[in-house]
Amino acid sequence: MISFQNVNKHYGQFHVLKNINLEVQDGEVVVVIGPSGSGKSTMLRCINRLETITDGDLSVNGFKVNDKKTNINDLRKNIGMVFQHFNLYPHKTVLQNITLAPIKALGVDPKNAEETAMYYLEKVGIPDKAKSYPSQLSGGQQQRVAIARGLAMKPNVMLFDEPTSALDPEMIGEVLEVMKSLAKEGMTMVVVTHEMGFAKEVANRVVFMDQGQILEEARPSEFFANPKTERAQIFLKRVL
Ligand code: ADP
Ligand code: MG
Repeated sequence: MISFQNVNKHYGQFHVLKNINLEVQDGEVVVVIGPSGSGKSTMLRCINRLETITDGDLSVNGFKVNDKKTNINDLRKNIGMVFQHFNLYPHKTVLQNITLAPIKALGVDPKNAEETAMYYLEKVGIPDKAKSYPSQLSGGQQQRVAIARGLAMKPNVMLFDEPTSALDPEMIGEVLEVMKSLAKEGMTMVVVTHEMGFAKEVANRVVFMDQGQILEEARPSEFFANPKTERAQIFLKRVL
């Protein structure tokens, strides 16, 4: 579903992604971990072309991401993304936040868009917040709205960039639970997170990045019990 082949990216002179090779299959949950500044967000953002790659091949859902002929809107229709800061529209209600893109980008009829929005709000556990504004919600609730908004586009891949890093500790669990249930239902997910418990429990594979490179890629049981590189060992000592 996602395939990086010898992908490099530079920010000016700075070589931020170094020869990335990564395959994500349909239904897989891949958790990306690594120190701050290692290129995790950049790698994720290349997938829906929020960043462009310098060379190599990157394909997603059969689209060649870096091909000029690829329509970005078509590429992005099937990719949901959830950020650390929820990025909800403050002056729109929860329901409007969720229905906006399906109506504007997919041409879904407003009535249907609302039904779909309610379905996903139920799924993330806050149907009663449909008429609220983001500022009236807790951080955990706002992030669950952001997830529902992503899902309402019916993507076949969901990308998460540190979705719980901006949350108070007591709200982290409710967001991870939603992500866990998504994973159980077979959603293909790439998740950047520092939540090692989530990685252990939910990931099919863990990818460890450092200084723009993928240094290790393994099943979580194997990676956490027996990290092979010294840099992963040092990283795990710090976070576990
Ligand atoms: P991570 O998500 O692992 O913390 P990032 O992908 O955000 O890492 O950043 C990787 C490196 O690229 C960092 O050194 C960061 O400062 C740099 N970087 C990120 N975005 C930009 C940008 N738009 N322009 C220049 N450098 C950037
Ligand atoms: Mg980041």
